[in-house]
Amino acid sequence: MGFVFIKYIYPSMVFMNKVLIALFFCCIFQVGGIFAQTNYSIRCSFDKKVLLKHLQSLSSDAFEGRRTGTKGATKARKYIINQFHNLKVEPLGKSFEQPFSFIKKKKVFDAVNVLGLIEGSVFPEKYIVISAHYDHEGVKYSKVYNGADDNASGVGALFAFAEYFKNNPPKHSVILAAFDAEELGLQGSKYYVNHSIISSQDIIVNINMDMISRSNKKELYVVGTSENKKLKSLFTNSKYSSDIELIRGHDGYDGLDDWTYTSDHASFHKKGIPFLYFGVEDHKDYHEPTDDYENIHPLFYVEAVKTIISVFEKMDCSVGFKNRP
Ligand SMILES: [Zn+2]
Repeated sequence: MGFVFIKYIYPSMVFMNKVLIALFFCCIFQVGGIFAQTNYSIRCSFDKKVLLKHLQSLSSDAFEGRRTGTKGATKARKYIINQFHNLKVEPLGKSFEQPFSFIKKKKVFDAVNVLGLIEGSVFPEKYIVISAHYDHEGVKYSKVYNGADDNASGVGALFAFAEYFKNNPPKHSVILAAFDAEELGLQGSKYYVNHSIISSQDIIVNINMDMISRSNKKELYVVGTSENKKLKSLFTNSKYSSDIELIRGHDGYDGLDDWTYTSDHASFHKKGIPFLYFGVEDHKDYHEPTDDYENIHPLFYVEAVKTIISVFEKMDCSVGFKNRP
């Protein structure tokens, strides 16, 4: 019986040790601050210049506004896959590409999601999906809609996450999802949640980023916490940035526009998967051909990406998140 005891207790002890070691090394945050507020800003993480360069490239005219099914979208996809390769991100399926088609206004569109995987070091069987759509409005009346903020900014952040994970491997497995056809009705995320390569039961949360690179008021919103105590707790008495304001809201309870269904997180929400959506208020260049690199706010963007990675880090380190929050 003694042997049986050891045999059965041992794996769980190894597991607990792994968890404790992981949590110990998790504490890379600068702890301190006033009014009992803990500062969760990450110290070092990714190359800011490289982040801005990605946004600039993806929103250049060469990508022709990245409209679903166009040459520009194919070019963007190749760019994303190339970066995933360079950053040692593995494909989620047999390849990075998840093709699908859909009909909109009697027209058939061929679209492709790009899905990468970083295996978790402690809870590999539980997944956090970090997403950003890479498509935009394309070319209309000979004007290129470059979509710098919407949403080259979110795609750049996916690369920053991948770069960050090289030195800070996540505890949970992470799927980096660059969705196609968001602008045509959240098609990429809709297809993904209905044809998931892993069971959607194993996705504990979706972190979606769409328009995160500019704000005159230096305000970044996080949506998705109002009905979820555990997600809400990530933000109580926690400060993630002293340079930008991270505001919980826009989820239907504060008199502001409800953003629950405005981007790809909606597809996860409809499946009962908790989500955090990060984004800024609409601006004068929203869905205009002037949504260009020149009009983003580089310092805000870098700080926004740092902030989102810091929130991820806190979530990933919390044992309570190994099951759905
Ligand atoms: Zn968008």
